[in-house]
Amino acid sequence: MNPVGKPGKAGSLMAVEVALARLLEMAEASTIGERERLPLAQVEGRILADDLVSTLDLPPWPNSAMDGYALRVADWTGEPLMVSQKIFAGQVPEPLKPGTCARIFTGAPVPAGADCVEMQENAEVQADERVRFIEAMAPGQNIRPQGQETTVGELVLPAGTRLGPIEQGLAASLGCAELNVVRKVRVAVLSTGDELIEPGQPLGPGQIYNSNRVLLCSWLQRLGCVVIDAGILPDDLAATRARLGELKDVDLILSTGGVSVGEADFLGIALREEGELTLWKLAIKPGKPLTFGHFRGVPVIGLPGNPASTLVTFALLARPYLLRRQGMKEVEPLKFQVPAGFDWPKAGNRREYLRGRLENGRAIIYKNQSSGVLRSAAWADGLVEVLEDRTLIEGDDVNFIPLSEVLS
Ligand code: AMP
Ligand code: MG
Repeated sequence: MNPVGKPGKAGSLMAVEVALARLLEMAEASTIGERERLPLAQVEGRILADDLVSTLDLPPWPNSAMDGYALRVADWTGEPLMVSQKIFAGQVPEPLKPGTCARIFTGAPVPAGADCVEMQENAEVQADERVRFIEAMAPGQNIRPQGQETTVGELVLPAGTRLGPIEQGLAASLGCAELNVVRKVRVAVLSTGDELIEPGQPLGPGQIYNSNRVLLCSWLQRLGCVVIDAGILPDDLAATRARLGELKDVDLILSTGGVSVGEADFLGIALREEGELTLWKLAIKPGKPLTFGHFRGVPVIGLPGNPASTLVTFALLARPYLLRRQGMKEVEPLKFQVPAGFDWPKAGNRREYLRGRLENGRAIIYKNQSSGVLRSAAWADGLVEVLEDRTLIEGDDVNFIPLSEVLS
């Protein structure tokens, strides 16, 4: 069985994790400092700006985990006990009268003096309304102690946490009506290529429809970014310069296309003239060429234009970069090992991210893995990672990154 997770040799190509580390370093050097205070219902998908520290014990008092009877274990002799009070959730009980029990319902405060709750299934109500408990009970049984979940002063969510329904629920349980979140990242999306036209137009000779624009714009919206759709950029230096110059007030310019070897790379030229440019050749497939630079101080990431390459490089590099710009810590997607349901006889010098699915616990892959085939990703529910210089036979372990991990 081949080991998983060990990078291989990739010659002069830059390993994916090296590129990611550099991007994250640059993201950290330009994290978004501005924040806003939002009602709790509006923070979904945003990044928490300040530590969330509990101002209360949760639960605030011991309460019953069951519908049943609260009593003192020591009062149980096997003889029936009188019910001295009835406590519903939301009520404040009297201290328990010694030698009695209290009818109690789930979530109701346990009265002082009681040290256990017996569930009603283990209790028999007698003709005289006293209650007999069938089994011996243990102190603390069926009681959720005060502060079980959190206590005053405890760090509940650290700054940099991405907020979703669960975090919203947790903040609500602590009484927070508003939270401070990092302001949204503003991303301008550019599609480069003379061959591109927008859907809705008739397709002329040599033209293809622009798929990356809507793919990236929707994805960025899911990531909680403000999207500035900067349209299609022709393969022309003057137009490139002019369009870049128009992009004011953005945190990142994200472009696709025009980074392939051999093509006149107008974005690259513009960056060299009015900023800086780093061109990387990554050990990643689909993908490989990636541009990082600045134009008049604004960071620019140029992804390869083939749609499946755009998808993979955005998922594994640009997405973590954008989240880290907002101060998020855990930006890398979860991956887990599964047995391959396919053979991979020819080792490559780039790390492959095959579009695949899980079937009967094994990863299978789409029949056509060409970087131009976006259908492979629509069919897939994950990226199957095959490391550099690696061959596989069916049953060998591969890493699987669910697309659901990276798509939002
Ligand atoms: P490039 O990196 O510009 O050489 O583009 C690589 C391949 O991706 C070419 O076949 C392009 O036609 C295609 N491509 C580039 N941009 C897009 C786009 N926005 N939508 C669909 N295909 C694209
Ligand atoms: Mg192009």
